[in-house]
Amino acid sequence: MTIVLATQNPGKIAEIRALLPEGWQVVTATELGVTEDIPETGETLEENALQKAQYLFDRCGMPALADDTGLEIEALNGAPGVYSARYAGEEKDNEKNMAKVLKELSDTSNRKARFRTVLAWVTPEGRQYFEGIVNGEIADTHLRGEHGFGYDPIFVPEGEHRSFAQMSAEEKSAMSHRGRALRAFVAHIKSKST
Ligand code: IMP
Repeated sequence: MTIVLATQNPGKIAEIRALLPEGWQVVTATELGVTEDIPETGETLEENALQKAQYLFDRCGMPALADDTGLEIEALNGAPGVYSARYAGEEKDNEKNMAKVLKELSDTSNRKARFRTVLAWVTPEGRQYFEGIVNGEIADTHLRGEHGFGYDPIFVPEGEHRSFAQMSAEEKSAMSHRGRALRAFVAHIKSKST
């Protein structure tokens, strides 16, 4: 079975490859000749993930998996949420996004936040969603490490002192939003194939 993925992010592709059962393969949209931007205009993570997966299913005619992730901060009423990538502007600059979060929280002691990933899975049998959440806190400042991307340097998962950027890819995947959503997806496809 081959799945087409919406993402081009090598870290995400490696993470899903590592979790898939034997006999399952992934191919990216670009590898199948999809060079145009895949539409992503929804107002929720669910809408965006489904929009991307449905587009690829229709375009490529094979089972499609797409993800959308948001950082949801309690004191900001769930912002930046679905707008996480563009929080500080259209250029999707991670440093500016993190600086904006730290500025918005400078007057509050409530640092509670969570990452939420939604995966949409579209096959000839229909559509399904898988969700993964990790609770944690926004650090007072950057806790930089060797790893990670996006908001990782300012996110400290519950029960940890380190930020996601200070963990190996395997450590992060074991507790992360995306790791959890992917494991729920893999459990589903395994249950369908036995
Ligand atoms: P996307 O849905 O993966 O495109 O991510 C939306 C936004 O959340 C982007 O700004 C990403 O950098 C950020 N993001 C997604 N996943 C993670 C993560 O695991 N750690 C930190 N930031 C993330």
